[in-house]
Amino acid sequence: MTLIDGKMTAAAIKEEIKAEVDQMIAAGMKRPHLAAVLVGHDGGSESYVKNKVIACEKCGFKSSLVRMEEDTTEEQLIDCIKQLNEDADVDGFIVQLPLPKHIDEQKVINAIDHHKDVDGIHPMNAGRMALGQPSFISATPLGIITLLKRYNIPTSGKKCVILGRSNIVGKPMAQLMMQKQYGDSTVTVCHSHSATLKDECRQADIIIAAIGRPDFVTADMVKEGAVVIDVGTTRVPDPSAKNGYRLNGDVKFDEVAPKCSYITPVPGGVGPMTICSLMKNTLAAAKREYFS
Ligand code: NAP
Repeated sequence: MTLIDGKMTAAAIKEEIKAEVDQMIAAGMKRPHLAAVLVGHDGGSESYVKNKVIACEKCGFKSSLVRMEEDTTEEQLIDCIKQLNEDADVDGFIVQLPLPKHIDEQKVINAIDHHKDVDGIHPMNAGRMALGQPSFISATPLGIITLLKRYNIPTSGKKCVILGRSNIVGKPMAQLMMQKQYGDSTVTVCHSHSATLKDECRQADIIIAAIGRPDFVTADMVKEGAVVIDVGTTRVPDPSAKNGYRLNGDVKFDEVAPKCSYITPVPGGVGPMTICSLMKNTLAAAKREYFS
């Protein structure tokens, strides 16, 4: 069994990005700039944004954070997005999700200029990606594709089962694993109403679990030699941890790992790659790679 080290892979990619940024600066180009909008004070979102700022520093990017209060109106948030759309110094920006309940998330996403949508969640980018056209790809699925490539894991012609069908993970992941230039796999997507979920998993060469149910994937659901990618990150109470909780994946790691050819840990697997993909997308935005 090989443990897929997302932390190490992400660190190597950030160094590659930094080297490219150094060359851009030496050539007289401006420093790539990623902005983040954070509405409210959700603990998880605060720490995700903090990690994104640290990653920007590692890559040599400029970063800025727009903080808005929990009671910000939809209109105020969309005004802020319009300003970022028009700010020539900002190459890309993200609106940290989830947003407070009174704000329509899709309306907010639709307001982002798709040329600056480095999270790859605007319908224009999601649609282009589905058609196999150049676009910003949703950060987590892009991170997983990058891990599979860097570890030379064969995917072409393999049976891949994806657990979860969310817009940010499951759906784009299925698109990428299906497409010839990425996974080239035979893809099955399972969700909370899938009657044959366990049987599908047992036949899978590759399982990508993204449902947010701790320890859901057990050894009896995994065939010998399978590749298992665990996207799940659920906070579960843990009195022995410094902050009182730990991050738990969707896979029961201890019993599943011995059966796998490759597996990602939680934490240290997919998570660091998500932020790293955001950096890759920001670099592409700064280089105007998807402008058309
Ligand atoms: P989400 O929007 O809540 O979607 C969850 C999906 O899982 C839904 O499609 C749901 O089915 C399905 N599901 C839930 N319970 C299920 C069950 N018992 N059996 C089968 N399917 C079930 O979640 P998400 O945003 O995709 O995130 C999924 C997990 O990945 C979470 O733990 C999240 O924290 C984590 N995540 C991690 C990263 C990272 O960088 N590591 C990034 C993004 C997300 P229905 O559609 O039928 O409701």
